Amino acid sequence: MSLLRRDRLAGVHDDLVRMVERAAEMCPQDIVVLEGVRSYERQQELYAKGASRTLNSKHLTGRAIDLAPMLDEDGDGKREVSWHWPHYRELAKYVKRAAVELDIDVEWGGDWKSFPDGPHWQLQGGKS
Ligand SMILES: [Zn+2]
Repeated sequence: MSLLRRDRLAGVHDDLVRMVERAAEMCPQDIVVLEGVRSYERQQELYAKGASRTLNSKHLTGRAIDLAPMLDEDGDGKREVSWHWPHYRELAKYVKRAAVELDIDVEWGGDWKSFPDGPHWQLQGGKS
């Protein structure tokens, strides 16, 4: 389906952009980019609120991206961002398939044991 809010891909690492574009082609639902590159000020805010656990996020360097599935969950005929784990697991299948196909070494926040982060995807390695 479609990839929504592509404007949020500005400054994001090319591998992540290619991966999410390929995933959107295969995924039966639309995918929305929630966040790409994050300023240090915003990272500090999120950290202060407890919404992020690090000041050294890969979002700062364009090596992370937050994605969400778009579904009509309330049945009003319009799709909205889903916050439900089964939808993120479903989306993750397509993103992982795209990553394998394109040989991109990526990590899904949803696989983290201690504080799983369903929308979050980041490249392995790199400075941060
Ligand atoms: Zn993230």
